[in-house]
Amino acid sequence: MTDEVLTDLLRERGQRVTSQRLVMHRFLRDQRTHLTAEQVLAGVADALPGTALPTVYATLELFEELGLVRRVQTGGGTMVFDPRTDPHHHLACRRCGAIEDLEAPVELAGVLRRARRAGFASEHAEVVVSGLCADCQRSAAGHTIR
Ligand SMILES: [Zn+2]
Ligand SMILES: [Zn+2]
Repeated sequence: MTDEVLTDLLRERGQRVTSQRLVMHRFLRDQRTHLTAEQVLAGVADALPGTALPTVYATLELFEELGLVRRVQTGGGTMVFDPRTDPHHHLACRRCGAIEDLEAPVELAGVLRRARRAGFASEHAEVVVSGLCADCQRSAAGHTIR
């Protein structure tokens, strides 16, 4: 999404167009990985000196509402933002917090149907597989980590 499209989208929603929003969006657009709010803050610190973490969170929440990022919440309490917004699933390491995309066909229609039947208005469903990544399995097995 270009700056112009984001500008139009923000105005359409009655949101102000700020340099913080434009710079953070540009940064996220170039990422191919999942990022914590702290990593986003570090990534824009040079361009946006003095930006505080709560501002980063607020902006990420706005971007989530606009469909520009997805929030991935894992069991381990790590929350990351995913610039990839097409449906996909995740592997989450409970030891080091690593989060990887998982490409797997998952049939969630039945799950969503039951949610609807339970009176729930679903917004999003995905699979998070939690466990240990390859590196953490190696170190758990007593081998030294690289
Ligand atoms: Zn790990
Ligand atoms: Zn992802």
